[in-house]
Amino acid sequence: MLIAISVLTALVLFLGAGLLWAGKRLTPDETSLTEQINDLLPQTQCAQCGYPGCRPYAQAIAEGEADINQCPPGGEEGVRVLAALLGVEAKPLDASHGEHKPPIVALIDEDRCIGCTLCIQACPVDAIIGAPRLMHTVIESECTGCELCLPPCPVDCIDLVERPQAYVPPRPEPIPIRVRAA
Ligand code: SF4
Ligand code: SF4
Ligand code: SF4
Repeated sequence: MLIAISVLTALVLFLGAGLLWAGKRLTPDETSLTEQINDLLPQTQCAQCGYPGCRPYAQAIAEGEADINQCPPGGEEGVRVLAALLGVEAKPLDASHGEHKPPIVALIDEDRCIGCTLCIQACPVDAIIGAPRLMHTVIESECTGCELCLPPCPVDCIDLVERPQAYVPPRPEPIPIRVRAA
């Protein structure tokens, strides 16, 4: 009886180890690819690509569901590095997602701000500080210029101005790999 239990236990452990090994060998490393693509995106989090942020867009590209030319903040250069990473041909930016603009930053006219906090709720990167009924301020170094705080402001006191120093997203030269392309 003891021998049978020992043999059964050894068999289960052996099968488990085999499945673990096969899982590691056979599962497509899409998470890693998503991260590599995400590292090349501007992190503006503006949703112009049609996805709620850079990482969801990166995941859609990794899964072959989105094309590489849907990110206006990344511009033609962004398309080029994505194409190099994925080993596909670069293509023009898809204008239906918007135009590439110079780097911008939000600026709040603090005299007109009524402290409603709606802009704080809209900002995807927590670049606005303020409290209810108090003036709000943009932390310039954190603002990506995504423009998402503009529409909710009831008194239209947020402007976008050209950034004094260009926002340069992290963009390592990619090591080409071949995957499905949309
Ligand atoms: S358009 Fe570009 S910067 Fe904006 S969320 Fe999509 S990937 Fe990020
Ligand atoms: S402050 Fe406005 S423009 Fe800047 S990141 Fe936040 S929502 Fe975008
Ligand atoms: S949405 Fe406009 S009024 Fe409201 S807190 Fe922000 S800047 Fe001020």
